[in-house]
Amino acid sequence: MATLNLQHLDKIYDNKVQAVFDFNLDINDGELIVLVGPSGCGKSTTLRMVAGLEDISAGRLLIDGKDITTMPPKDRDIAMVFQNYALYGHMTVYENMAFSLVLRKEDKNVIHQKVLAAAEILGLTDQLNKKPSQLSGGQRQRVAMGRAIVRTPKVFLFDEPLSNLDAKLRGATRREILLLHKRLKATMIYVTHDQTEALTLADRIVCMSMGYVQQIGTPLELYDTPANLFVASFIGLPPMNFFEGRVEKGSFVCDDFRFKAGGQYFALLQAYEGKEVVLGVRPENVVAVDGSVPGDLSDRDLAEIEGGGVNVTVSLNENLGQTTLVHGSTGHSKIVCKFREWCNFTSGVKVKVSFDRVHFFDKETTKAIR
Ligand code: ADP
Repeated sequence: MATLNLQHLDKIYDNKVQAVFDFNLDINDGELIVLVGPSGCGKSTTLRMVAGLEDISAGRLLIDGKDITTMPPKDRDIAMVFQNYALYGHMTVYENMAFSLVLRKEDKNVIHQKVLAAAEILGLTDQLNKKPSQLSGGQRQRVAMGRAIVRTPKVFLFDEPLSNLDAKLRGATRREILLLHKRLKATMIYVTHDQTEALTLADRIVCMSMGYVQQIGTPLELYDTPANLFVASFIGLPPMNFFEGRVEKGSFVCDDFRFKAGGQYFALLQAYEGKEVVLGVRPENVVAVDGSVPGDLSDRDLAEIEGGGVNVTVSLNENLGQTTLVHGSTGHSKIVCKFREWCNFTSGVKVKVSFDRVHFFDKETTKAIR
């Protein structure tokens, strides 16, 4: 068990590419932190700096209060699970899991007990005599986790551990990792480009873009109160809809509609009179107000939009079971609506919608207006 402090970490590679800028994070004992962002945003570089696989160009890294910035990886007591498993093909599952302990010259009985205990946790007891080639992708990933567990490290690092698995297995293995975290109560850092993994796994998410931390918070904080346009568009699926406009006499005005800002929104927009802002609305906050989706209207506190709503011309209807994704256009902008019913809209049909929750962003700085 361990706390970690990442203080002002920079990474500049030899080719002068700066991959990470001023990364700051204090990780609590037993916390599961997920670093999320698009490919190339610096997630793996950050993780590799924690592991000691990349030098830290500037800043300090502490584990349990002790400075380990320049400590070699083998002394850090950190175990890493990679996307490509990195198992030894000629060794059995048992030997793979025992390997690091054999290297450490641990007692044979202790090794045996640790391997059996890890195999039990991971459901691998019946697979111990097999070679990795005889296992499925999901089982191989579990062996890779087992290899980390037997070492009882202070910190577990996961680098996109599920990306080689198919969608169904990815979901199942993700839930296993969550259970594993609850069981081990270990400090973990998990890297992924998948916002669903971040939302479902994390105690706290660190959302990154282009080497910079964009926001740190609980999954609900990032989903509910995104700090800027990047986080708003990255977290949530389908992504948030955006409308560019400006504030006129306390209303948000864009090419396709006028939103009369009342209540909490009025206070927010007052300071932006005459300025360019972006209105964001999640697909699940779009409500059909013309009766075309009867179940959609119940208990919803709707925005006041001139003319009673925004006209959407439907282009595509995607049924997901309990909900329907309706893709369309408001004239100048695309919109995705997530309605709470099975719908059968045909292309070209018009639906009038309103919103029960919106977000505003400063167009110039991209920051959320709060
Ligand atoms: P992510 O894990 O978010 O996909 P990375 O941390 O792998 O991103 O990469 C961040 C940036 O650093 C990218 O621009 C990448 O090209 C660059 N980069 C990664 N590894 C190296 C390296 N060994 N040498 C030079 N540049 C690198």
